[in-house]
This record gives sequence, C-alpha cells and structure tokens, in this order.
Amino acid sequence: MAKNRLSEYRHRRDFRKTKEPKGSRRRPGADGPIFVIQKHAASTLHYDFRLEIDGVLRSWAVPKGPSTDPSQKRLAIPTEDHPLDYADFEGRIPDGEYGAGAVIVWDTGSYEKMKEEDDRLEVYLRGKKVFGPYALVRMDRDDDEQWLLVKMRGDGADARRNPVGTEPASVLSGREIDDVRERP
Ligand code: MN
Repeated sequence: MAKNRLSEYRHRRDFRKTKEPKGSRRRPGADGPIFVIQKHAASTLHYDFRLEIDGVLRSWAVPKGPSTDPSQKRLAIPTEDHPLDYADFEGRIPDGEYGAGAVIVWDTGSYEKMKEEDDRLEVYLRGKKVFGPYALVRMDRDDDEQWLLVKMRGDGADARRNPVGTEPASVLSGREIDDVRERP
C-alpha cells in the first residue's frame, strides 16, 4: 500500500538529480509514529508539516509555519505523501527540479493521534520547539483542498512565543536555511 501511496512522490522527482530519498527503506529504529516540520526555501518559503500515518509521511505545506498561539490559524495545503526516510532529509534540491531550494529539519519528535475524522485530525506533538495538542481542520474553498493548522489550548499553548521567528535552526544539524542554501 505504501508503495502506491508514494507513486506521486516518485513521479515528481528525478533521483539522478536530487538527493532526496527514494523511499526504499524505512527509517531505522523507528518506534511509534513521528512528525517532522521541514523548513523549505523553495520558490516561496514554507514549512512542510508531516505526520507518519500508515507507513508514509502525510504532508501539508504551511506557508507561515506552526504557531504556539491558539488564536492563530495557519493555512495548510495538502501535498503528496512522502516516504518515512524523508524525515531526516536536509539539503538543497537542485535548480530546475521539483521543490528546488534548501530544506532543513526545523522540528521533529514523536506524536500521538488524539482524534481522526474526515475533516479533522487532532495530534499531540512532542517536538523540541512545538509541543502539545494541535488540530488540522479541513476547510475547502471551491475545489481546492485546504486545511488550517491550529494550536489547541493546553500544553505548549503560549501566545508570546514565536518559535518560527526566534528558533530558526535545524534541530538535527544546528544549520540555518541560508547555510544549507549556500553550502549544501
Ligand atoms: Mn515543501
């Protein structure tokens, strides 16, 4: 099943040119589902929010990144499922390739699913920068599938924090997006 779910991912990429994973192996030592938020300086800067579900990383592009403030709603556009081994990918996707630009792992950790409905997914994240319950809420406009990523009240809710602005570095390498863009 996971193989078919990755056909769009593979179709979009030329693995002779990009160093992104082909998705041929599972992430070693994975126990329990993970989430990852990758900062991606493509044609427009965004944050890719990914949740391990059914053997793949279900993915949304969040232009402004996650907030810790429950009053802030962040647009989240679904993108194709990614392979599990994408979770630790950092590097520069070459010019001319799909998603060209620099990628860092902005935050990652384990998560627990709290609720899953067709148009609502609630997860409890255990990251280094973002923590506690978040909701993804489907709010389509016309034919475009779009969701909102919203911090829920409780653990990790803090209207004064702004980790997207104040904690820009990778949690894996300590590098910032410009470091990777200039020296991949
Ligand atoms: Mn992206």
